Amino acid sequence: MVTLQSKWRYLVMLLAVQLVVMALLSREGNQRRVSYFFRIFRKTEHTASPPHGHNGTSGGDVYANLSAPARSAAREDLPYCPRKSPLIGGPIRVTFPSGLTLSGVERKNPLVTRGGRYRPPDCEAKHRTAIIIPHRNREHHLKFFLYHVHPFLQRQQLDYGIYIIHQAGNYTFNRAKLMNVGFREAMREEDWDCLFFHDVDLIPEDDRNSYTCETVPKHAAIAMDKFGYKLPYKMYFGGVSALTPLQYLRMNGFPNNYWGWGGEDDDIGIRVSLGGMSISRPSVNIGRYKMIKHKLDTGNERNPERFNMLAKTRQTWKLDGMNSLDYELISREYRQLYTNITVNIGTEEGLHPTPKSAAPADARIPTSSSTKKEKQANAAGKKTPDH
Ligand code: UDP
Ligand code: MN
Repeated sequence: MVTLQSKWRYLVMLLAVQLVVMALLSREGNQRRVSYFFRIFRKTEHTASPPHGHNGTSGGDVYANLSAPARSAAREDLPYCPRKSPLIGGPIRVTFPSGLTLSGVERKNPLVTRGGRYRPPDCEAKHRTAIIIPHRNREHHLKFFLYHVHPFLQRQQLDYGIYIIHQAGNYTFNRAKLMNVGFREAMREEDWDCLFFHDVDLIPEDDRNSYTCETVPKHAAIAMDKFGYKLPYKMYFGGVSALTPLQYLRMNGFPNNYWGWGGEDDDIGIRVSLGGMSISRPSVNIGRYKMIKHKLDTGNERNPERFNMLAKTRQTWKLDGMNSLDYELISREYRQLYTNITVNIGTEEGLHPTPKSAAPADARIPTSSSTKKEKQANAAGKKTPDH
């Protein structure tokens, strides 16, 4: 006869077995099934029912139901993709798998071709979007970015390409100038109809956040986790923005003269309005991003001049931008998941600053924001180790 005590023992054993199975499943990436199991024990949550395939608060797997390799139809016979991609599902769960490698990301994205290019296999894309990413010493972020953004863009049935604009040397970083280089180099290659200027550490959390352009410049990263998923201030234009080539040229591109952290994104926002354009934005529940946590980088110290410079944008925007851009292309490499463009963007003093009279070569960068380390840096054509 089964006593009450042994009944409990069986129940506890059964639960323990269940937990082990759940732990194994979640290790193998079946988090959706696992969270479904746990939700049985929780009070029913009142969330809007998610669109196909995505589950409520935690979001769906960004790799779920992606297009399979093409049937044998010739490309020219393909129909146009529908206005709204059937692969769009809404909220996406952002995970950072441990032990992820770039070759692991390549295996997950078999339809991405050399240079980080993709076209939907079963229809002709209606939109052609280039993603431009300023970069230096963020290989770890880049890996997670590629892991998420490739399938994210594939869900939207875009014809896309990813460009990493890598600043050579270790002189002060210049995000906006790298974007200008990215614009010129990407447009040299293809007639893109939209360019997304994108920080490497921002991961979109909803695939309804469309990576296409609007009739006016778009600020896409309006709800970041680090700002409590709110726009920090009305004119904020940082993180991720999207412009057509015409919109970009109408505001003379981005400024080239913001060295170090801060200010350039506000300058860009001001340029949009000086160019006679307004800013469009997705809704806050869609323009959501997770920023991979990081500290301020060495070589990208706060620019103490930024407030003075911002006060002068009205006088400077027509003189400084795409029409004054100078840089030296060091290499263009077509890697499997992205095109890597390494550039020498020089310093405030130009591409090849000449040493001042008797001054030693490593003391030739006398800016108020320079640290001792920066002063020793020399950006002239030095290439950083390959990544
Ligand atoms: N960035 C980089 N290396 C650096 C500094 C910046 O690659 O040393 C790039 C990277 O794409 C990053 C972006 O510039 O996401 C903006 O810099 P940061 O993340 O420091 O700005 P914040 O987090 O304050 O918006
Ligand atoms: Mn950041």
